[in-house]
Amino acid sequence: MTRRTTRRPRPSGAGARVAGKPAPVTRPDRLFGAHHSIAGGPSRAVERAVETGCECLQVFTRNINRWDNPPLDQAAAAAFRAAVADAGLGLVVAHDSYLINPAAADDDLRDRSIAGLEEELRRAEMLGIPWVVAHPGAAGGQEPEVAVRRAADGFVAALQRTAGLRAGLLVETTAGQGSCLGADFAEIGAIVARADAAEVGRRIGVCLDTCHVFAAGYALAPAGALDATLEAFDRLVGLERLVVIHANDSKKPFGSRVDRHEAIGAGAIGREAFRLLLQHPRLRGIPLILETPKEGPDGKPSPDVDRHNLAVLRSLASGAPETARRPTAKNRPRAARHPAAESGKTPRAAKRPGR
Ligand SMILES: [Zn+2]
Ligand SMILES: [Zn+2]
Repeated sequence: MTRRTTRRPRPSGAGARVAGKPAPVTRPDRLFGAHHSIAGGPSRAVERAVETGCECLQVFTRNINRWDNPPLDQAAAAAFRAAVADAGLGLVVAHDSYLINPAAADDDLRDRSIAGLEEELRRAEMLGIPWVVAHPGAAGGQEPEVAVRRAADGFVAALQRTAGLRAGLLVETTAGQGSCLGADFAEIGAIVARADAAEVGRRIGVCLDTCHVFAAGYALAPAGALDATLEAFDRLVGLERLVVIHANDSKKPFGSRVDRHEAIGAGAIGREAFRLLLQHPRLRGIPLILETPKEGPDGKPSPDVDRHNLAVLRSLASGAPETARRPTAKNRPRAARHPAAESGKTPRAAKRPGR
């Protein structure tokens, strides 16, 4: 048997990408992926993405529990970009540090937060990452309207300080835990509108998290309720601003305003809502990224857990049966908090006055 020394280009068609690159694993019209750790170097996240069958990826580009981080190594950044191209990943996004609070009433914390966002954008740019997912922050004791304006101006400042970069910010919808902003689509819309008014709107978009919107009280099922939720999003934010969806089921009930992620179909959102979401014409083509727990029934992380969640999403999107096993009470993965939980850190919660 002779060893093939050259790779034959795959047959071209509607879904074909650059010749010589691996073909998408499935459904070229939509990307499915997950958040992965960069432990061991940024390129390791790409290896983890490939190992679990991801077509898109989210990473933290730094230690999210520290303000001060060593600068990104040029060679490591170049290796990351090459790994992403080799893997054929269709989209990579970064997620910002949870220390960042552009809405903070405290001027020092807010200044550090704006500098932090600037740093996030510069690191993303070096890594060839087009978007940094960012939380709008927490109001603390401020009136929500005041805090939203402060958050928006913080985002604008970070974008203005990095004028000329391609990397932009995706404001994430939140569960509204404590005094966290962004549980109301109107708040997200106000931030986007302020960025538009400051003429940095080209570099601002939105990330919708299914667990967060559900916990915030936006229904995802039945079909009419999902229509109403998307209608509200379109009216208050604009569906054209939606760049990526965080696909997470919710450990906590509808409207609980508590942010606890669960495996797809194993939480309070359930499979039917994900089926409706995945097959909704207004969300067609929007990439989905898992932030679901990575631990299996034995409490240890396993790539099988992400593979299973991706299989569920893909089967619900296509209507075809899953290739991975269904979760049972016994093998169901455990609930996790936001991906910050991977490092044992959770967003700080505070009481929100009047809500
Ligand atoms: Zn999220
Ligand atoms: Zn979350």
